[in-house]
Amino acid sequence: MSVDNASPATQGTVAPTSAGTPTTPHSPSTNSPATSAAHIDPDALATQVLAGTPATSEQGLAILRTADEDLLDIVAAAGRVRRKHFGMTVKVNYLVNLKSGLCPEDCGYCSQRLGSDTEILKYSWLSTKDATRQATFGMEGGAGRVCLVASGRGPSNRDIDRVGEITKSIKDSNPQLEVCACLGFLKDNQAERLKEYGVDAYNHNLNTAESNYEEICSTHTFEQRTDTVKKAKAGGLSPCSGLIVGMGESDEQVIEAIDSLRELDSDSIPVNFLIPFEGTPMEGVHHLTPQHSMRILAAVRFMCPDKELRIAGGREMHLRTLQPLSLHVANSLFLGDYLTSEGQDAIADLDMIVDGGFSILGQEDTKALRDQILASKNAHLAAVNGAQGGTEVGVAGGAAGSGLPCAGGAAGKPGAVPAGTSAEAAAGAAPTSGGCPKSRGEVPGTPTVPVIRRRGAGTDLPPNA
Ligand code: SF4
Repeated sequence: MSVDNASPATQGTVAPTSAGTPTTPHSPSTNSPATSAAHIDPDALATQVLAGTPATSEQGLAILRTADEDLLDIVAAAGRVRRKHFGMTVKVNYLVNLKSGLCPEDCGYCSQRLGSDTEILKYSWLSTKDATRQATFGMEGGAGRVCLVASGRGPSNRDIDRVGEITKSIKDSNPQLEVCACLGFLKDNQAERLKEYGVDAYNHNLNTAESNYEEICSTHTFEQRTDTVKKAKAGGLSPCSGLIVGMGESDEQVIEAIDSLRELDSDSIPVNFLIPFEGTPMEGVHHLTPQHSMRILAAVRFMCPDKELRIAGGREMHLRTLQPLSLHVANSLFLGDYLTSEGQDAIADLDMIVDGGFSILGQEDTKALRDQILASKNAHLAAVNGAQGGTEVGVAGGAAGSGLPCAGGAAGKPGAVPAGTSAEAAAGAAPTSGGCPKSRGEVPGTPTVPVIRRRGAGTDLPPNA
């Protein structure tokens, strides 16, 4: 799933040639609303959708081609549809990367792909104890669903047992948590076995349109992906399948992929925005604007009105300051970090929810939860940085008046103080590959390059949850 453009056998990439060498993606025909603006009345479309007729492909395409100046009208109309089905709730999901890197597949967007030079954390399966602990962190941060992800082409039967045992352990400690597995291509009867263990859902993203699939991966086909989504559903698991946008696909291909998702009747649709990892064929690819990212979310909402729509990996980089607005269209997000890269600080995610007047699905008092996590984070930072005096994380997630050491972990997360940052610094840890934004010559602000995850699952450092 995604989650930083990487979910086992789910996140594709740049155009591999027949020799397996990705080529440059073709130029997108999107992102130029000013030159291809379409005329569509978003409010009338919302009325049509609310009356029971989802947007057609043509209407979805027209939404993608509206002008930037119409964006607020699009969001307002999509918000009507969102509120009908989900009110003001936000479903919070939390990723646990059970097994990282060393994948034999060549999905071009993926930092875990065959031949990737991206310096990600690489580790084999987390123990049941560690995986349960990571899931509990997510639950304490407000997550109602934990997503157990493992890199690779697909699970062996032993892997199914392993994930089943982890699921049982998580549900023993946190019975209310939903578990979604994301393990790659399923063989016959594996979905049924996961279901018996208590797994609720299965993620396997289509990522892009069938007509674009060969451009992003050479080691498997689009049809293999749809086959796994169907197997998951037939086995009694709730299908979760979504997209990665920004890989050079055309507007028509975005709509083609959304059409495929609705044909599969995916219950949850994560929309990932390409994270162009260094060391992958997608390095440096950056086609999306914040406005176009929003239009894509709106098109999904109008075409799949009652489906969980999740802002996923890359939202910080591509939606940028429009992230809070996107929650009026989407109704779900991943909390904190992604599989191999950092997300914005979890407190910033919770602030976005509280400040927008939303509530977390399954939580009685979202604001109280946010305040409690903030207080506990400040207490932790105060303890670690006591000698430096008075360090506090602001309500907006900033290191207000911070005297925090800038020694790793918070890179690319300006205004964010991840759990673990100070502990790492206090322990004298060497700066991570992320490092301080200033040390990388970046101006603090919304991240524009991926920051590799060095905390949470697979490390001894606290996660960003
Ligand atoms: S390269 Fe492997 S881990 Fe990455 S998306 Fe493809 S199948 Fe999943």
